[in-house]
Amino acid sequence: MPSPIQPVLDQIALDMQSRTDRGHVADYIPELARVAPSHFAISVVTAGGNVFGAGDISTGFSAQSITKVFTLAIALGRSGDQLWQRVGREPSGNAFNSIVQLENENGRPRNPFVNAGAIVTTDEVLAGRAPKQALAEIIGFVRAAAEDSDIHINEAVARSEQSLGHRNFALAHFLAAHDNLRNAPEMTLGTYFHQCAIELTTTQLARAGRFLMGGTEGPRLVSQPRVRRMNALMLTCGHYDGSGDFAFRVGLPAKSGVGGGILAIVPGVASIAVWSPGLDENGNSKLGTEALERLAREMDWSIF
Ligand code: GLU
Repeated sequence: MPSPIQPVLDQIALDMQSRTDRGHVADYIPELARVAPSHFAISVVTAGGNVFGAGDISTGFSAQSITKVFTLAIALGRSGDQLWQRVGREPSGNAFNSIVQLENENGRPRNPFVNAGAIVTTDEVLAGRAPKQALAEIIGFVRAAAEDSDIHINEAVARSEQSLGHRNFALAHFLAAHDNLRNAPEMTLGTYFHQCAIELTTTQLARAGRFLMGGTEGPRLVSQPRVRRMNALMLTCGHYDGSGDFAFRVGLPAKSGVGGGILAIVPGVASIAVWSPGLDENGNSKLGTEALERLAREMDWSIF
């Protein structure tokens, strides 16, 4: 019996192509402001190893905050539960780059997916090494997860964010003031901006997410108990202050990025990557969220 997945993806991609209300492309990183909002791509890798896709599945996009999932896996592998002394595990209810909560809570970020928490996580991965080495480990992890060596960092995007990353510099210095940064703010941020600038296609991202689905498909990079915890964090914190709404509408653990990508996991069943550059008011892909909502409904995929 042919899989019902492909026709569902084709129909979603077709419908999304004709939409005019596509949200707004992130413009606080000048290089990202140049990306055409007309793109749409969706890829699914199933637990059985089958790959499905529709739309611009061969066009690379900026992974941005989705990379926080991969650095979290590396940091937990390196430091184990010690990381939780430096960063919390609660949803923030605040914007991804908010500094207010960080001040109220004495420099301990709410979770590893808000920017402050991700900067701490990257700082943990850096741990006194040269940024080049830490970045080699991060990109190496993503390539190993996808089993694809053709995944790279877009230097222009990294430099573009670095040149105007005033809020992230403020967050890093604030963390340092609270003794929650081990490396010089410039070093940690240089690593963080380059990590965010990893570029991949939806096919590559869906493949890179396989380790989060559990089961036997793809390389097992993280233990099953840790996979469960990472999925819990993605569900509760993966969409910033839109996390509750995303869980309500889609019902799957997922992580978004301001490049317009979302990685979503159906535990034991599938790894999904979607990309549409236009963002909603919380900085999450507008059509990407809608596409996942439809796919989850039509495939009856939900963790609930
Ligand atoms: N590099 C972005 C920043 O730090 C990541 C934010 C995101 O993708 O949500 O602002």
